[in-house]
Amino acid sequence: MTGQGERLHGERAIRSIVIVGGGTAGWMAAAMLARRLEKQPVRITVVESSTIGTVGVGEATVPGIRDFFREIGVTEREVMAAAKGTAKLGIEFVDWKRPGHRFFHPFGLYGMRSRGVAFHHYWQKLRAAGEAVELSDYCLASAMAARNVFMLPTDKPVHDLLFFDWAVHFDAGLFAKFLAARSVAQGVAHIDATITDVRINPQSGLIDGVDTACGKAIDGDLFIDCSGFRSLLLGKALGSGYVDWSNLLPCDRAVAMPCTRTAPLTPYTRSTAVAQGWKWRIPLQHRVGNGFVYASRHLSDDEAVASLCAGLEGEPLAEPNLIRFRTGHREQFWRGNCVALGLAAGFMEPLESTSITLIQTGIEKLLALFPDRDFDPALAGEYNRSTTLEYARIRDFLLLHYWANDRRGEPMWDQCRDTALPEMLAHKIRLFEAKGHLVRYEWESFHDPSWLSMYAGFDIAARTHDPAADYFSVPDLQAALARMRESIGKAVALAEPHDSFLAGYGVG
Ligand SMILES: Cc1cc2nc3c(=O)[nH]c(=O)nc-3n(C[C@H](O)[C@H](O)[C@H](O)COP(=O)(O)OP(=O)(O)OC[C@H]3O[C@@H](n4cnc5c(N)ncnc54)[C@H](O)[C@@H]3O)c2cc1C
Repeated sequence: MTGQGERLHGERAIRSIVIVGGGTAGWMAAAMLARRLEKQPVRITVVESSTIGTVGVGEATVPGIRDFFREIGVTEREVMAAAKGTAKLGIEFVDWKRPGHRFFHPFGLYGMRSRGVAFHHYWQKLRAAGEAVELSDYCLASAMAARNVFMLPTDKPVHDLLFFDWAVHFDAGLFAKFLAARSVAQGVAHIDATITDVRINPQSGLIDGVDTACGKAIDGDLFIDCSGFRSLLLGKALGSGYVDWSNLLPCDRAVAMPCTRTAPLTPYTRSTAVAQGWKWRIPLQHRVGNGFVYASRHLSDDEAVASLCAGLEGEPLAEPNLIRFRTGHREQFWRGNCVALGLAAGFMEPLESTSITLIQTGIEKLLALFPDRDFDPALAGEYNRSTTLEYARIRDFLLLHYWANDRRGEPMWDQCRDTALPEMLAHKIRLFEAKGHLVRYEWESFHDPSWLSMYAGFDIAARTHDPAADYFSVPDLQAALARMRESIGKAVALAEPHDSFLAGYGVG
């Protein structure tokens, strides 16, 4: 039955969406909106400027990206073939705790629960009893990464030990092209023009349209600002301020430079800490993505470029791409008839590959709260509330990486250890230290195993374990853990070297 409310809604329905920007954010939004709104009479237009170009980085993702592929109706295989993709089981953190130390943040679970008690309490109990038990030995994703092998997870793992997840690395430029081709085939209009003005309606305060250098005016009902760091619509035209977190996270610059591949393909991203920041290494089929994220207070751009170039494993494939950024986000992500996604909404350094996932969840939230032309402020209010929480939770996870370091005698890292932590993060750490208790807040992107990998990786120890773990004696636990290691060993033996997996999968 169609009620009057519904008919009215139909009359006020959004008729045209203008997406400003044709980077990863713009084309992800176009692809998803075209798919979800395909039966509705909505015109979708992407305006981008080939003279301005895109930021040209953003190659590592988290497992949720595979939901995005599914949502737009493509397979991992198609994306990986089109964008020279590789598999990602997690991130290896090298020298973060201190030089010479490394640990792995996997997309997977650790060990098996027993009698309702999480595995890490048994792990803690054995460590307290003097056993040298490594948490990563009980995670299939970590074990595969350590051996440089990969396989697809089974749909229904018979127990937790066999559960793992995976993400992809891809060439961001090729990924955007792939999405653009699909979107245009689905009817999205594509205009290459430089926007010179944003017209705001003096009565409503809403955006009426944008004007371009070639004289074309583009009007719309809903505007999605994917214009990158410029934040042309939301930041510049509508004046949504910026919440600056530079006081919490020290890095404010990056330089990126791809090089030829010399080593076998690793199924993970590597992040290596250095005195003034950290360097990423992202293996793709046709090249390796490299970058150096650093604090300009501690290093000049020239020094950063020289340091990145000196450490390349292969021949450079492009000039250094220098990028300045300010960590934080727009005060409001959605104002009036404009929602910002991607760099136009905010930015946190790519330490845990969270920007693309924020674009994805932004699109999902927008669709869940999709407005009509009345733009009920309650919808924007909820979007802004949840997105602010989501950003803050990620910020706290990143902050933990810096705060927990033990790189003594290096000014940047010494300062990081002294950072006053936001209370929500401090509370989380206190609860873990008290008895290994893991807290999950609303809109948290990283779940218990991720936090656990950081606590274990940085040796943040719990003072005691859950008393329920004492049901089992130490010898019982030693035997159980030996069986778990054996199961993981058998499972890893089924995986193949990453490059042969890709060839067999038909993408390499
Ligand atoms: C150093 C670094 C490393 C990163 N690594 C990762 C990573 O590993 N994983 C991850 O998830 N994310 C990463 N990111 C973030 C990721 O790159 C971005 O989230 C993603 O590329 C989206 O960018 P964007 O589309 O918002 O902006 P951009 O790529 O900058 O695109 C902006 C678009 O707006 C258009 N535009 C701008 N002004 C105008 C105008 N006046 N008229 C018309 N068009 C205009 C441009 O032409 C362009 O098409 C990284 C970011 C940085 C800075």
